[in-house]
Amino acid sequence: MKPTVLLTNDDGVSSGGLWAAYAALSEIAEVTVVAPATQQSAVGRSISIFEPIRLHKVIINGFPAYAVDGKPTDAVIIGLYALRLNPDLVVSGINIGENLSFESIMTSGTVGAALEAANQGPRAVAFSLQVNDQGMKFDDPRSDMMHDDSIGDVVKDVCSTIFEKGFPEHTDVLNVNIPAEIKGGYEVTRLAHTLFHTGVEERFDPRGRPYYWIDGPLVEDAEEGTDVHAVRQGRISLTPITLDCTAPAAFEGLRKQFC
Ligand code: MN
Repeated sequence: MKPTVLLTNDDGVSSGGLWAAYAALSEIAEVTVVAPATQQSAVGRSISIFEPIRLHKVIINGFPAYAVDGKPTDAVIIGLYALRLNPDLVVSGINIGENLSFESIMTSGTVGAALEAANQGPRAVAFSLQVNDQGMKFDDPRSDMMHDDSIGDVVKDVCSTIFEKGFPEHTDVLNVNIPAEIKGGYEVTRLAHTLFHTGVEERFDPRGRPYYWIDGPLVEDAEEGTDVHAVRQGRISLTPITLDCTAPAAFEGLRKQFC
């Protein structure tokens, strides 16, 4: 019997990235798509608890899917608790745009969905694809940018290895980032500090009042061993992520200060 996968994302259920993952995973698993109905990038792990959540059965590219009026996290929770899926693995992606560094994974809806899954029980893998042009993240995600079979091959290779050998130990979420041009193999990495030179662009509305766009160029590079550096070099980064953000190194100093 094939292993089962709950497939979600944050670019919306019609995203070309999700369906590239679907095509690759269908060869090795029973895949159920449960994903946000609309673009939900950068919502992180936010959750809808002040609104009802609707679930729609849809057909996309000839395949059945569930579209959730909500966040990526909502889609995972609906998949697990309303549809009662009991997947062997949750896959989130393929996101259009890289999710590198702890700055980025804390806001990523792609990684947010994976974190939620892992917190509820199933282990999860997040896949993201580097884009050469940052503007592509804001294009219609249905646009067919997944022509390159090697992208789906990475999804298939990582997931089939997990099915065969088990999920990596001491890991809740495996964060996989695929370079726009794959020039090397896998590298096990740590998260870099940052992905962007964050800034704001000030503009003026028709009444002369300022408003702001959060914007900023990507960092050029980061230290050896980081996800940012590996992907900049054209290698596929594999970053093991844990849910527990406790900083045990701070225990002693904190006790001295307060106890
Ligand atoms: Mn996205």
